[in-house]
Amino acid sequence: MASEGKPVNPPGTYLKRQDLERLPGLIRYKPSVKYLFAAGEALSRFLKGLKEGKILGVKCPVCGRVYVPPRAYCEYCHVPTSEWVELPGTGVVHTAVVSYIATDRSRMEKPEIVGVIRLDAPGYREDSYEFAGLFHKLCGVTPEQVMDGSVIGMKVKPRWKPPEERTGSITDIECFEPVEGGEQ
Ligand SMILES: [Zn+2]
Repeated sequence: MASEGKPVNPPGTYLKRQDLERLPGLIRYKPSVKYLFAAGEALSRFLKGLKEGKILGVKCPVCGRVYVPPRAYCEYCHVPTSEWVELPGTGVVHTAVVSYIATDRSRMEKPEIVGVIRLDAPGYREDSYEFAGLFHKLCGVTPEQVMDGSVIGMKVKPRWKPPEERTGSITDIECFEPVEGGEQ
């Protein structure tokens, strides 16, 4: 194909920046948008738990799955979840990546390792891909351990911020770090 690898512009007249600026009724404004997010009953209780240094989940009365983050209903049994349980907070690394991109999208000199932690929670089969999990930072782990895959399955626990610094946010957990002697 002659056009292979080269983008081809479709026919038509393209609007230029000047064309847009000549448009009648053009309004310029900078939106100042602020959000208030109602976390809802279940998530609010979860966030309050974080402030107290606890990872809370809710248990389905039918199948026994414990949801973290909590859900008001079991998505398998379609019944309200009722019983709150405190999890030990320990878990294993399910996935991990080495990230060089900060939350403001700038490039970081020193990468962070982030991943999904499969929490120790009742109600899930070990060989199943459904589990109670959190996406979080990993510390005490090297990029090499991510690259060679040895981080996967590593036993980890939360490293909490000091109580006076907690705000009821997922960042009340600084990161998940390896449990001493807990590597698999
Ligand atoms: Zn259920």
